[in-house]
Amino acid sequence: MTAFDRDFTMTIGGQPVAGGATIPVLNPATEEAVAEAPDCSAAELDAAVAAARAAFPGWRATPIDQRRAAVAKIAEVISTNLDQFARLFTQEQGRPVGKATEELLGAAFWAASVAKQEIPVLVNEDTPDRRSETRRVPIGVVGGIVPWNFPMLLGVWKIAGALLTGNTLVIKPSPFTPLTMLKLGELMRPHLPAGVFNVVSGGDQLGPWMTAHPGIDKISFTGSTATGKRVMASAAANLKRVTLELGGNDAAIVLGDVDVAKVAEPLFWSAFGNNGQVCIATKRLYIHDSAYDALAAELAAIANRVRTGNGLEQGIDLGPVQNHAQFERVKALVEDAKAEGLTFLAGGEVPEGKGYFIPVTLVDNPPEDSRVVAEEAFGPVLPLIRFDDVEDVIARANNSDYGLAGSVWSADTDAALAIAERLDTGTVWINEAQHVTPWAPFGGHKQSGIGVENGTEGLLEYTNAQTISVRK
Ligand code: NAD
Repeated sequence: MTAFDRDFTMTIGGQPVAGGATIPVLNPATEEAVAEAPDCSAAELDAAVAAARAAFPGWRATPIDQRRAAVAKIAEVISTNLDQFARLFTQEQGRPVGKATEELLGAAFWAASVAKQEIPVLVNEDTPDRRSETRRVPIGVVGGIVPWNFPMLLGVWKIAGALLTGNTLVIKPSPFTPLTMLKLGELMRPHLPAGVFNVVSGGDQLGPWMTAHPGIDKISFTGSTATGKRVMASAAANLKRVTLELGGNDAAIVLGDVDVAKVAEPLFWSAFGNNGQVCIATKRLYIHDSAYDALAAELAAIANRVRTGNGLEQGIDLGPVQNHAQFERVKALVEDAKAEGLTFLAGGEVPEGKGYFIPVTLVDNPPEDSRVVAEEAFGPVLPLIRFDDVEDVIARANNSDYGLAGSVWSADTDAALAIAERLDTGTVWINEAQHVTPWAPFGGHKQSGIGVENGTEGLLEYTNAQTISVRK
């Protein structure tokens, strides 16, 4: 094994490939290079797809128990190298080491859990004349495309599901955070037949090459809605299957009967964990008039306690925003709110200096049509919005092209449930947020996506249905 701080190679056909060119990976806390990652050429992508195609017949015929063992091995490889993975993760992604470790443990947990899942067979008819069954067969070569906000967890969702069901895989991490996934590919080489699991990294051209590649049969994509539309259009050329996990603008609805002291902390972290760079972060916080002032004061107090800084240092709660483009986007959103004359309950001033640091920013009751409410901030900026009518707040929550998730907070579970059922989103939590598991389907309504990940339904997205009918 090579060191964790250098020698980053792609995994193509079970071999290390350094590539002819490289892209720099920056530490968002210092803006200095962490390492160089290979910049995959078109010919190298062809080689990865060819290796995956060649490996497919053997892998689909491999007994499921061996495939389970291979998926479980991912958990073991991550756990065995946890500390080194975590430090590398912090340097490329920015999140403090403790929180990076949580994601890595989550990824290991996912692999171990998916390894135990069953691929169901449906009996359609079993009569004296005929037996008809629908079973699930792998699709072929899957292309996985992953964003920079959860580079390992979201990558492992794709790897575990695709490999367990008998597909082979070419996975591409974000150019901002390729290093941990390249290391995972390297460490898994001894544990899988060559070509089953390929990892490629590169610049902006690599994703479009994958979605247009005739040798890839399915794309599992996680990223922004704008990119998701491009993926789907490109995938149409050879009718690739697609699963699209896209953006969100999740509303949390807080009723007036909540215990403010109890809900403030979980609500705060539902918005600001990973600096708000979470697809299912609370991005619009609707608070009933009767609880608004007390909750706003609690949230501001937490915001003022939180320490933002270099995630490699002790005692840091939040790291930098992950990359320069995102930093500029979030900064512009804050400037725009200021120009609109909106007031801040915390934050609002972006400091000068090295690193993409934006303080936790709470915006006091902005209008519904302000950018900070209407857009997915994907950064540490949260609008707190007053409401006094439940019908009105449901309409406002649903007034979005997104439909990823949302939450309702109340001492009265039945009242909260009645609201939850009327939200047009793929997931709704009550008195919690962001609880995602390997057993529950997760996906977006409207422009937040197509298809789901996780649970049996998520697993089946890596399969085609095949009905076999036997005349007795
Ligand atoms: P992005 O869409 O810019 O990039 C995602 C991935 O797609 C990267 O690997 C990128 O290199 C690649 N890519 C870029 N252009 C491409 C193209 N034309 N064809 C194919 N691939 C291409 O997203 P991002 O900025 O990395 O991630 C943030 C977004 O992801 C947010 O909108 C967030 O809400 C969303 N997200 C969604 C989920 C979910 O499960 N629904 C989870 C995490 C993030």
